Amino acid sequence: MTLLCVPLVSKTVEQMVADMAAAKACGADLVEFRLDHLSNFDPRRDLHLLLGDRLLPALVTYSYFIYEFLPNWEGGEYEGDDKQRFQALCLAMELGAEYVDVELKVAEDFVRLISEKKPENFKLIISSHNYQSTPSSEELSSLVARIQAAGADIVKIATTAVDIVDVARMFQVIVHCQVPMIGLVMGEKGLISRLLCPKYGGYLTFGTLGAGKESAPGQPTISDLLNVYNIRQIGTDTKVFGIIGKPVGHSKSPILHNAAFKSAGLNAVYVSFLVDVLADFLNAYSSADFAGFSCTIPHKEAAVRCCDEVDPIAKSIGAVNTIVKRPTDGKLIGYNTDYVGAISAIEDGIRGSKGVGKDETVSPLAGKVFVVIGAGGAGKALAYGAKEKGAKVVIANRTYERARELANLIGGHALTLAELENFHPEDGMILANTTSIGMQPNVDETPLRKQALGAYAVVFDAVYTPKVTRLLREAEESGATVVGGLEMFIRQAMGQFELFTNLAAPENLFREIVKKHI
Ligand code: NAP
Repeated sequence: MTLLCVPLVSKTVEQMVADMAAAKACGADLVEFRLDHLSNFDPRRDLHLLLGDRLLPALVTYSYFIYEFLPNWEGGEYEGDDKQRFQALCLAMELGAEYVDVELKVAEDFVRLISEKKPENFKLIISSHNYQSTPSSEELSSLVARIQAAGADIVKIATTAVDIVDVARMFQVIVHCQVPMIGLVMGEKGLISRLLCPKYGGYLTFGTLGAGKESAPGQPTISDLLNVYNIRQIGTDTKVFGIIGKPVGHSKSPILHNAAFKSAGLNAVYVSFLVDVLADFLNAYSSADFAGFSCTIPHKEAAVRCCDEVDPIAKSIGAVNTIVKRPTDGKLIGYNTDYVGAISAIEDGIRGSKGVGKDETVSPLAGKVFVVIGAGGAGKALAYGAKEKGAKVVIANRTYERARELANLIGGHALTLAELENFHPEDGMILANTTSIGMQPNVDETPLRKQALGAYAVVFDAVYTPKVTRLLREAEESGATVVGGLEMFIRQAMGQFELFTNLAAPENLFREIVKKHI
């Protein structure tokens, strides 16, 4: 079992003791006392306070301070000499700390110092930190061997993710390590090294008490580890799903899909992948364990090229937002669930406002002018879907050329954004914004000024943060029926869950979660 460790980085002993209680209440297995963060640290007085009557097992670390980005910075804040550092760490061991962490470069001296007095249940962690990059597999393996030879009970290597593919090398090294190993890749691109530790047998992973309480870049909160990623349920056989994007940290998809996996009793986890080059990512994580992916900005179009087979609708749209790895042969199959998600949300919005039954056979979009602002992944899905439903599709885009290409592809008409301002061939048109204009933090922006909205009977916005955008607010004030992007978000996610699992999506659960978290 991978242990969950909360790093304690307060400046006072009193706060560290209080944080230890909070860590226990959250469900941590142990805490890490970062002695180098304490102001006016007095080893004899403070270690008694920290370690006497402690609520959780303790890892004690007292790292060097060497200015950030210098080659041998080990991530700590201590500026004194090794003698004092070693005395404090020795005392921590004598007072019953379960673990002490020392850096590889001083390990030999420290091992010699404690060799006669090492308690039976005490474990020495010998660590190496790299704040620039993640070395090659060969270099990582030889580092493991050196740490092991130095006398480590537990090997710890923390590197930095320049690219998410770096983490794959760390996973392989952990799997092959002969002694318990903590292998973490720091930074946002390394997040999966922290979440998937139990799958690869990592000895522990760090979870913080909250934002601003990290001891290293990229640490998630312990609450997210336990309650979003259900980390206690992750094991060797757990299937990995996730959202591929850049940026991706803001995505609520992990909350939604992990809750759905849990409610269906599936041995699966859903994470976020901050990916630079889609093909490199898919190549590095090609094992069957990485079973399916959601794709978001900016990878939906590249995903069409990276898949082995693409569903005909996704191919026509030119954008894939869902990739499933076929279990029988490992081939990547691409789909698009944005299209059904958005179009069905708009149709139901119109039917709801008219009080017409949902089983009506002719789409309420048929014969209507349907204006799509944007020609990216979402724009393509909306334009294709509206055309399928018999609408007269018009595409307006900042880059006019892309609007024209899309209009040619689906059989529609293209406009510049300026032309859209006075576009009014008929009343009762439908408008769909598929750009990120109006999305947090730019909530005062809108893709079309209010005066132009009078021509539209229905206005949809793919943006869902905020739930009610300026565009939707002004459209409603102008008398239009409005449909928010959240409805599309829920429906495209339900489509993805069904493709990932072959099970019906738990719609009520999805709606409850969206209500609570978005
Ligand atoms: P994308 O492929 O990157 O396309 C972005 C589109 O927005 C392009 O047409 C781009 O125009 C246009 N654009 C971006 N910034 C603009 C600006 N400042 N002014 C004018 N036009 C601008 O992205 P996407 O995947 O289609 O996503 C677009 C939006 O839809 C995002 O906000 C996303 O969150 C949202 N979305 C929502 C859902 C949902 O479930 N509700 C699903 C998918 C997407 P150029 O061609 O000129 O660059």
